[in-house]
Amino acid sequence: MPEWSQKFQEFRRETGLINDLGRATALLFWDQDTYMPDGAAAGRGQQLATLETLRHERLTSDATEELLTDLESAQLPPDGVEAAMVREARRAVDRAVKLPGRLVEELAKRSSSARHAWAKARAAADFSLFAPELDAMLALKREEADAVGHHGQRYDALLDEFEPGATTAQLTALFAPMRAEQVVLLEQLAASEVTVNAEILEREYPEEAQKRLAEELAASVGYDFNRGRLDTALHPFAESIGVDDVRITTRYDRNFLSTALFGTLHEAGHALYEQGIDRAFDRSPLGHGASLGMHESQSRLWENLVGRGLPFWRYAYPRAQAAFPAQLGSVPLEEFHAAINRVSPSLIRVEADEVSYNLHVLVRFELELALLDGDLSANDLPGAWNERYQQYLGVTPPDDACGCLQDIHWSVGLIGYFPTYALGNLMSVQLLNAARERLPDLDQQLAAGEFAPLLGFLRDTVHRHGSRYLPGELLQRASGAPLSAAPYLAYLRDKFGALYRIE
Ligand code: ZN
Repeated sequence: MPEWSQKFQEFRRETGLINDLGRATALLFWDQDTYMPDGAAAGRGQQLATLETLRHERLTSDATEELLTDLESAQLPPDGVEAAMVREARRAVDRAVKLPGRLVEELAKRSSSARHAWAKARAAADFSLFAPELDAMLALKREEADAVGHHGQRYDALLDEFEPGATTAQLTALFAPMRAEQVVLLEQLAASEVTVNAEILEREYPEEAQKRLAEELAASVGYDFNRGRLDTALHPFAESIGVDDVRITTRYDRNFLSTALFGTLHEAGHALYEQGIDRAFDRSPLGHGASLGMHESQSRLWENLVGRGLPFWRYAYPRAQAAFPAQLGSVPLEEFHAAINRVSPSLIRVEADEVSYNLHVLVRFELELALLDGDLSANDLPGAWNERYQQYLGVTPPDDACGCLQDIHWSVGLIGYFPTYALGNLMSVQLLNAARERLPDLDQQLAAGEFAPLLGFLRDTVHRHGSRYLPGELLQRASGAPLSAAPYLAYLRDKFGALYRIE
């Protein structure tokens, strides 16, 4: 046994305990967003704060620091799992230690008041109710970035929390040419003479039948209901309580079938990732996905690359028709497939089609960068927002509720989070292309409802590793190439060029 093995066991015990506190918090959050009675909000807030305080205390304790320092100077095999666990624990500890308690408290308080102001402003479609809160939040986020540390670019420090290793310069270089190409593609599609009948998705779809179909499809692609469950939530999410308890939520719209179907596949994609992490990493610093971008690559892969593809619906459409004989019985598969892929630039990110989705994200990335740097003041946000929507998507919000007030993120201090949505799209295509190389019959398999080979590829190349590798390295290992926008752009041109018959 190596001499560090006893220290390492102590480290596993301590990080296991810290993990448990975090997972208990996750379970309380899950409950808060699904079944908790409204009246319980204040008490729940207290319980969450207590757990978070305990976790923070253990994470930043002298004992944890000593264990980490000892292990960092021990002779751990540099490429081994142990070193990766120490690296990830160090990341978490450093971030926690560097933030002064006062700042953490102010951020928590500001999140609560800003979220409240945002909800009011959105309901009244009046941005001025939110502007002062956003300014105050930005000031705190600048403080946070400076406390965490950076090399001159504050945004880097915030981004790193969600996408370890990514930098503002890298994203800017990646996104600018991608934006230009997506804008052109969107214009070409708008000029197409192909018309799509989307009315078929807006018929009356009873909730119970939607739920049964959503469950059937989630189970088909490999989501394990014995180690998870599907419930409803206003804003759907996936939550991991541990490798054997990964829950998903969705919501049902009686008059729009896509919401529940693709929302469920999206969250199931997140959950497949968490359910597929190596059991040996459970309760360890590696027991979660590598980054938000990598996570989103999994959800978007199942939602869009698989879930909006023709092969998948060759398998799934007879099932959808059986669930909704009156609504879909006489609709041909090709017409349904065209409807679920209709491209129509809109104001709302969460309802966006595949071609315009990244453009919604880029508006937010560019603006939050300018806000953080102080190049844009909160008061000027609505104007800058509307200008970009017109420029990139060709639409202008009639009011701020469906403009710059539509997302909750900034009000709760999530800055540096949006770009991970676009990164996920790019990675998803790189990973699917790699899967196709290993599985030349992939489309036939999908059409036959055989999802295990694709899931097996993802388990092997991505899921099982948890956060053992930083996302850049994981992508390189899994796909054989560094992050690039080219495969994603080619995917969009091929798929939508064919659907809309453009050159
Ligand atoms: Zn997601």
